[in-house]
Amino acid sequence: MNFYILLLFLILKQSKSNGYHALYDTKIAEAAVDKHDWQILWQERDENGLDILSFHKEAPGIWLVTFRARPISLRNLRRYDIKYRIIVNNMRRHIEFLLEEIKEGPPSIEMGNATFLNYLNFDEVVEYVESTPRFSTPYKLISTEVIGRSVQNRSIPMLRIDNAGVNDTIVVEAGMHGREWISVMTAVYLIAKLVREGDDFPELGRLNWFIIPCLNPDGYYHSLQIEGYTFHRKNLNVEYCPPKQYNCSIESCGVDLNRNFAFHDIKVGIHGNPCVGTYGGRRSFSEPESQALQSILKLYKDRIKMFISLHSYGPFILYPWSYKKEKCNDWKDLVRAARKAVKAIQSVTFNATHYKIKNIGTEFGPTAGCVEDYAKHLGIKYSYRMELQRAGNRVFMPKLENIKNFCKENFYGIAALAMHISKQPEKLGMMKGKAKDVKEVKSSQDFVKPNILYIMFLYGALLN
Ligand SMILES: [Zn+2]
Repeated sequence: MNFYILLLFLILKQSKSNGYHALYDTKIAEAAVDKHDWQILWQERDENGLDILSFHKEAPGIWLVTFRARPISLRNLRRYDIKYRIIVNNMRRHIEFLLEEIKEGPPSIEMGNATFLNYLNFDEVVEYVESTPRFSTPYKLISTEVIGRSVQNRSIPMLRIDNAGVNDTIVVEAGMHGREWISVMTAVYLIAKLVREGDDFPELGRLNWFIIPCLNPDGYYHSLQIEGYTFHRKNLNVEYCPPKQYNCSIESCGVDLNRNFAFHDIKVGIHGNPCVGTYGGRRSFSEPESQALQSILKLYKDRIKMFISLHSYGPFILYPWSYKKEKCNDWKDLVRAARKAVKAIQSVTFNATHYKIKNIGTEFGPTAGCVEDYAKHLGIKYSYRMELQRAGNRVFMPKLENIKNFCKENFYGIAALAMHISKQPEKLGMMKGKAKDVKEVKSSQDFVKPNILYIMFLYGALLN
């Protein structure tokens, strides 16, 4: 008998140390709130780890908020007479179902090609990226770079498509938040369409592309593969675990990478409590994952024509500024391009997703530390965040049968943006400044490896 009590104690202890108690304890709910109720939700977030999954303005002065909350927060909301609607009641069953579906579902890779019928795990993403350079041609160099390493030493791969004689580059980054699986799949789909599945899109092939499919490898790996971490958003930096006095779980450890890109020391909207999903770390660029992206944006800023950060969920195409409510000066140009994307997405199927175009700061309230602001601040004119499709009550995790279609819609949106931007007055440039960039690659931070293939390719291109 004593043995069974001891066993039960050990199981409980184990589950508590993994944070399972907090995760399974939660429910996902939705509420339409005014400014006053918003503040109460915010307070719950600070004090009891209420996890705001998404929100947007439903009407003037009213926000529709989806959140994950523990019973203590739900009780407090009832006390303040805030009406909410539960959309996931039994989180344990919900997560078990998601993981079982992935395990029992069709293969994610067949004969080396992504099927988009199931989610690729992190190792499969790396393998897919690393096996793509074999599609290089004499005029198009496909290469991979490890642009950094995560806190837990996983590689952050980037696929490069460099066309001989072309300077203008599109950078697409995904997977900054672990649980936003469809963003990773969309980036992989982009690689499939641009490189591996023929020449259906010659206009796109005339641009250079840098695609970073998984900026937060630890977050994605844990969210997809480790039970108890399904809703993990931040990186896995355990230096930033909430102190004991906070009422939150180990799942709250880490830094929100999209609050870690601060510039001008602006801290608005960056949370100082590690319990909260938007905790920004002790200082900007404290995390190896944000440093990795920073190095690419800084190094190539003069040739990057567009930067897109893929997130979920929306659906929104968002443009700077985020740190303040004012729009960037050239917002009309960004909106004009985004309209092309919305139209292209709508043309995919008769019931395709309708993306809304919004300014980040106005729609979500001023928030500093976001990469879109950082990229814009570097002088990259077209800097966007795409919040991809919401998946009903599965919020971040679309059903397997939706993956392919969602990716297809998103691809057509990104393609339309890229094509529009490539036709803008800043014409496709030639090789100006390229030799300088190569030199910078050699002397840049340690984790950006000089790519000998790339240097040889440039040398060849210059000779041509
Ligand atoms: Zn996100």
